[in-house]
Amino acid sequence: MKCRKCGKKALVNLKAYRISLCGDCFLEFYRRIVERSIKKYRIFKNDDKILVAVSGGKDSSAMASVLRELGHDFELLHIDLGIYDYSKDSRDKVKELSKLIEKSLHILELRDYGFTISEVKGKKCSICGTAKRYIMNRFARENRFTVIATGHTAEDITAFYLKNIAGGQKEYSEKLLPRTEPFDERVVARTRPIFEMSEKENMIYAILKNLPLKLEECPFAPNPDWKEIVYEIERRKPGFVKNFVRGIAVEQHRFEKKYCSICGEVSTREICSFCRIRSRFISSK
Ligand code: AMP
Ligand code: ZN
Repeated sequence: MKCRKCGKKALVNLKAYRISLCGDCFLEFYRRIVERSIKKYRIFKNDDKILVAVSGGKDSSAMASVLRELGHDFELLHIDLGIYDYSKDSRDKVKELSKLIEKSLHILELRDYGFTISEVKGKKCSICGTAKRYIMNRFARENRFTVIATGHTAEDITAFYLKNIAGGQKEYSEKLLPRTEPFDERVVARTRPIFEMSEKENMIYAILKNLPLKLEECPFAPNPDWKEIVYEIERRKPGFVKNFVRGIAVEQHRFEKKYCSICGEVSTREICSFCRIRSRFISSK
């Protein structure tokens, strides 16, 4: 098989895009998609101070690396959850990543808040998620970051959406959109710059870029049912996941609440269509 872009020997076959690419062309392809989603879905604002949350895994490491390649300024945050050797290894990988991509790293320990995930009995995973969100938000706000970027993938977002819709919680399903704005001044905006990328694409990117990775799953990883359903649909209908997340993102875009900066009426843009027309008419008189 040959690379669709340059004709060299292809290394990867992306069924979702019906394209085969060599390593270099894949990296370029990956960067362009992330760059396009950042623009299209307004993932970052011009004056954002960005905090990138990294776990040591392939997805958030690929995100940090591609954001650097695209020229974004940011700092890294890692939370040590106190899960035996798993946390120690993750922390080491994140330190290596920070050196490699030359971005400063903040490490916070859940232990300093009075407990570790290893000590929690029962619902470790949901407690871990709550603890991470709490610590990330508090740290970001106290250090004047205006947005937190996480490495949620297209599969994460699709599985989360389907699970919540199936559970009758539609309002919840929309929590993982490309960018969610705070509903209170104590909450920092959240963004998912690689929401269009699949786990496989992140893995290929991370390997080709030789990123330090913690490959083992967390020993307390959640029940994978919804993820497996998503993998199965993608296997039978290649492109499903990509189209699904794009579909959700477009919905958000359409219903984003905004007001015209001239007249204050509801608008999808900075200045509403009526005021744009009116300004043309007035200025041409
Ligand atoms: P998860 O909730 O484990 O699916 O992770 C989703 C995203 O949260 C990752 O892509 C990271 O951006 C972030 N994240 C997960 N674990 C950590 C951690 N220990 N420290 C900092 N960020 C994390
Ligand atoms: Zn090529």
